[in-house]
Amino acid sequence: MKQQLIAGNWKMNGSLAANEALVHGIAQGLQAALSGKQAHVAVCAPAAYLSQVQQLTHSSGIDLGAQDLSAHEQGAYTGEISAAMLKDFAVRYAIVGHSERRHYHAESDELVATKAQRALSAGITPIVCVGETLAEREAGKTEEVVKRQLAAVIHANGHCISEIVVAYEPVWAIGTGKTATPQQAQAVHAVLRAQLQAATPHADRVQILYGGSMNATNAAQLLSQPDIDGGLIGGAALKPADFLTIIAAAAR
Ligand code: PEP
Repeated sequence: MKQQLIAGNWKMNGSLAANEALVHGIAQGLQAALSGKQAHVAVCAPAAYLSQVQQLTHSSGIDLGAQDLSAHEQGAYTGEISAAMLKDFAVRYAIVGHSERRHYHAESDELVATKAQRALSAGITPIVCVGETLAEREAGKTEEVVKRQLAAVIHANGHCISEIVVAYEPVWAIGTGKTATPQQAQAVHAVLRAQLQAATPHADRVQILYGGSMNATNAAQLLSQPDIDGGLIGGAALKPADFLTIIAAAAR
């Protein structure tokens, strides 16, 4: 059975002291949460703290993730962080195309696809976020939007596509407390799975995560859907007890 992935997206939260308490809290409860079963666990920390969190997570069973990376390889791009730099800190995952970056930084589907490509060529697994806004859902455009977003990444990454992680994150569910129902989420995950199946014979091994107000209460139901292979967790990833409950729900 495919292992589930529970990845915390800390967004622009944290401090040296808060990160230490958070990672220690997760690490201390991890074995009990897994209770002899398995799940992949990662925390996507702000770039400024990658070195600290690399040390805190060392040998803990928690992988390190970044929240973004540059579409460029190196050079005169002030403020940008390259895939190779992330690799220096043993970063295993990098979120690309989070809706907050698409919205606040006007990231296009093509830019997101290039970022995924940069990550893959550095040996980092991109967590490619796709999702519709409330207006798009209400206009009946959910499928069209998520397929367009994923198609750009498939087009740019060809046969490497089975190496990505996809996160379906309906924009209207992020940080709002409004979660997609398990049926709504599963329906979109099935669409994404079919799109991957048309692109690679290895689509079944691609982890498709759900993100959007997943919490300790709703995680088990969402994670029991056939095409939901884990979660990308925002708010609840900042509370060790809640994050551990979600990990326990994902352990197989
Ligand atoms: C996210 O930002 O990726 C996210 C899913 O946030 P939240 O869980 O807070 O909705």
